[in-house]
Amino acid sequence: MTVRVRMAPSPTGFLHIGGVHTFLFNWLYARGRGGECLLRIENTDTSREVTEAVDQIQRSLAWIGIDWDRPVTFQLDAMERCRELAAKLVADGAAYEDEGAIRFRMPDDGSTGWDDAVRGRIEVPNAQLEDVVIVRSDGRATYNFASPVEDMDDGITHVIRGEDHISNTPKQIQILRALGHEPPVYAHLGSILGPDGKKLSKRHGAVSVDEFRAAGYLSEALVNFLALIGWAPDGETTEMTVAEIVERFTLEAVSSSPGTFDYAKLDWLNGRYLRALTPDAYADRLLVFLHEQSIGWDKERVRAAAPLVQEKIGRFEEFPGMVGFLFGFVDPDVTLLDPAILAAAGKAFDPVEPWVAAGIEVALKALCEELGRKPKEVFLPIRVAVTGSRISPGLYESLELLGKDTSLARIRAHAAAS
Ligand code: GLU
Repeated sequence: MTVRVRMAPSPTGFLHIGGVHTFLFNWLYARGRGGECLLRIENTDTSREVTEAVDQIQRSLAWIGIDWDRPVTFQLDAMERCRELAAKLVADGAAYEDEGAIRFRMPDDGSTGWDDAVRGRIEVPNAQLEDVVIVRSDGRATYNFASPVEDMDDGITHVIRGEDHISNTPKQIQILRALGHEPPVYAHLGSILGPDGKKLSKRHGAVSVDEFRAAGYLSEALVNFLALIGWAPDGETTEMTVAEIVERFTLEAVSSSPGTFDYAKLDWLNGRYLRALTPDAYADRLLVFLHEQSIGWDKERVRAAAPLVQEKIGRFEEFPGMVGFLFGFVDPDVTLLDPAILAAAGKAFDPVEPWVAAGIEVALKALCEELGRKPKEVFLPIRVAVTGSRISPGLYESLELLGKDTSLARIRAHAAAS
């Protein structure tokens, strides 16, 4: 039997990272087994006017690197089919009309159970299952009816979804059996919590894919990070390529406990991915990021500045602040400047030719000697005058890249008159 799973987002706006985690697990499962992964938009409870949300879902998934097979489907398109099946269930006595709506008749005795691929056997007493509305009085099928109907019609073999759907599963199993269909395998993933143990939300940090993208995370680092929430190939591995994850992913190794979204770990991992890129690949990815952020800085200069920060930053969003001094004016905090040191630096730099990091370094060290001051004390006012900040890429390289004229102009602008 070919594996076929579905990713079933409700088009409610931005794509939440918890949803992406669920979709990733579906995708990994299918891709590791030569299976298919469908994308179904569950818009029964929203309206047909969800174009923007649907575009955004597809954009976000594409950026992460999650693809899907066959054209995207919309649950609202299954309404006619659902009404027909509901009528059949009524004719069979498995459902009944109630004030214009149609309700499914759940059994009163016994229990409904399934072997959850993540949680093991789950049994729910049927007495707990209410007769769910399957078609509303306005003729629209509900999620709890349309979803299993589509799972049946699409030949879905594995439903991998969040644990918040566990209570729906026995109802959907009953409905499928009444339709004469053997239910798929269900796998309910643990929720993702913030570092404080509460449901992951905006209070904790970024939650939508767009936010992670705008923060300058690499999609492959995010995938690596997400894959290891609630799943582990062993006790140790923290860095894996997508291909390795696809190869090793199994539902048996997925944990039913809630997972923690550890932002610090993501930053650490992203930094490792960034540093592992070749300088060219790093600059390419950085330029894509800047373009997305509508920062139209000179490309060659960005390429030249990239090696100055590659070892220093953990996310691309830190880049503009770090190197902005190379692309525009600076506005240093004058209280951090030391006019006497700056005057001496202006003189010490004047003869440096060619203007390269090594020569600048020699001149600066000689200046410290001459002034009898520690490098820290001498570098700070120069760094602040030139970069506008106490934190910058390496000072020698920064000065070289900025150029002699601009560097000296910035230093002299705050130097004591001699
Ligand atoms: N549309 C549901 C959600 O976004 C998914 C339902 C399902 O996977 O059956 O939570």
